[in-house]
Amino acid sequence: MYIHIVSCRRSHCVSTVEYLHAEHALVEGVWRSRVRVGIDAAGRIASVDCDSPAQPDDQRLTQRVLLPAAANLHSHAFQRAMAGRTEQRHAQRDSFWSWRSQMYRFVERMTPEDLQAIAAYAYMEMLETGFAAVAEFHYLHHGPEGRPYDDPGCMSAAIIAAASEAGIGLTHLPVLYQRGGLADEPVTGGQRRFRSSLDGYAALIGQLQSRWREAPADAVLGVAPHSLRAVDANGLTLAAGLLPGAPVHLHIAEQTAEVEAVQAATGQRPVAYLLDRAEVDAGWCLVHATHLDDAELAGLARSGATVGLAPITEANLGDGLFRAAEAANRGQRWGVGSDSNVRIDLPGELRTLEYGQRLIERRRCVLADARRSTGRWLFDQACAGGAAALGRDCGRLAVGQWADLVTLDTGSIDLCATKGDGWLDAWLFGAARPVVAEVWSAGRPAVVAGRHRRRDALTAAYRQTLQRLTT
Ligand SMILES: [Zn+2]
Repeated sequence: MYIHIVSCRRSHCVSTVEYLHAEHALVEGVWRSRVRVGIDAAGRIASVDCDSPAQPDDQRLTQRVLLPAAANLHSHAFQRAMAGRTEQRHAQRDSFWSWRSQMYRFVERMTPEDLQAIAAYAYMEMLETGFAAVAEFHYLHHGPEGRPYDDPGCMSAAIIAAASEAGIGLTHLPVLYQRGGLADEPVTGGQRRFRSSLDGYAALIGQLQSRWREAPADAVLGVAPHSLRAVDANGLTLAAGLLPGAPVHLHIAEQTAEVEAVQAATGQRPVAYLLDRAEVDAGWCLVHATHLDDAELAGLARSGATVGLAPITEANLGDGLFRAAEAANRGQRWGVGSDSNVRIDLPGELRTLEYGQRLIERRRCVLADARRSTGRWLFDQACAGGAAALGRDCGRLAVGQWADLVTLDTGSIDLCATKGDGWLDAWLFGAARPVVAEVWSAGRPAVVAGRHRRRDALTAAYRQTLQRLTT
């Protein structure tokens, strides 16, 4: 845990609060100047003072705008190593399903050490693009061919270690994956590494709860029934009830074939089925929710759940487009995740989401309101949705929140001639070069001057793993 003790010169006391002083900051929805932010030893924001002069020991953020950092609400870290390896056409009509077969083959050889190296590298990239925390939807539990490891939690331990190496805030979501399909088909091939019985899953969560006592204070443990395909009604109920109050995530309605299969098996569309059978509330995150009818759209907004969008992955896999403009009119909360990690790019996720809506609607600035620009509106939603989905006090520059913070370089050519919402528009839409300068996760300084502090070591370990897995 990062704790930096600084001396308070005037009174000769010892204080465990560190101060940042930013030229500009987005404080509770308002652009403010000369903002002094105190961070306590635990990594939470202890004070926020606007129009305040810098003190001698403050870390001065010159030519910077300070923002709350968004959380990445959906990641399968191991898939980072597949990025760019599945773009060859193998069938007349390649799809999510043919991509999934390639992914299953790829995971066959992956060891816990490989997983840790890949995840640490992916988490480093997430920090460098401006995310301070991640929800890891983790389903690679067992050894090759489904053989159990001596320590059933060792793959989770690899994820926890990777998050610690990179310094990213972690919401860990071990996945329940019971079956190969809606008709209780057995798992096959790569799926054997994912499968758990209900008892096995409950035991894994129990073991991780004990392990959690040693985790950083900002780490969160949640649950993830994989999907209506891979989890039956009993599994859904058991998983959702295992950790009361903790985040519950699942994939839903990503593909039209999946919607049709759920309809054939249950007589209902997936989101309608889920809303009827589970107590879906603000602690839930429904990942994708791409294919919704009007009643599902309304029911989902009423539930208070977050929709977990992954615009780059959804585009890469040919999933379809979320009905974002209509959902926004209903007050639907959403955030973004890097999902398959084919490209780790926070501004790219938000830009892809907005451009998809523009192409459907054939108009500009779809996801905005009268008060805020498109970039600002998208960023605000990503902060609020990410915080809700991760069960993490973040996404706001306010006292009591974790110090998940990001700065943009306002001296860069992309940002130097604008201000306010324009900084966010320039970052999301205009900047081809990185403009993220510093990132802190729960007060841990992870990125300095645009570069992760452990970039060289994490890159070297990842390179070795890639070479092993691809030769
Ligand atoms: Zn996913």
